[in-house]
Amino acid sequence: MKNCTECNYEFTFSDRLREAISFKPRLKCKKCNSVYKQQYTIYKVIYSSVIIFISLMIFDNIFLNNHILNYTLYILITVPILIIFDLLPHKFQKYEKL
Ligand SMILES: [Zn+2]
Repeated sequence: MKNCTECNYEFTFSDRLREAISFKPRLKCKKCNSVYKQQYTIYKVIYSSVIIFISLMIFDNIFLNNHILNYTLYILITVPILIIFDLLPHKFQKYEKL
């Protein structure tokens, strides 16, 4: 979602970052105080599944000797890639106004 549907305020990168890392993700317009919630779409499910699947395959083949390091690296690399879906505005996101 690039702009607020009510007042056309353009959401900034930090607006979206705050939404992406929040436990209760809401995109709030600073200008008119409209609040939006991202809906789960099939695109998000596909994106997440593909990323998790690919990274599991890669990590399974590269790091085998140290399990703690393995899991830490896996989370440190996979989670930011998953968050990119929320961070960048694109047409596959769907938001509902609360
Ligand atoms: Zn607005």
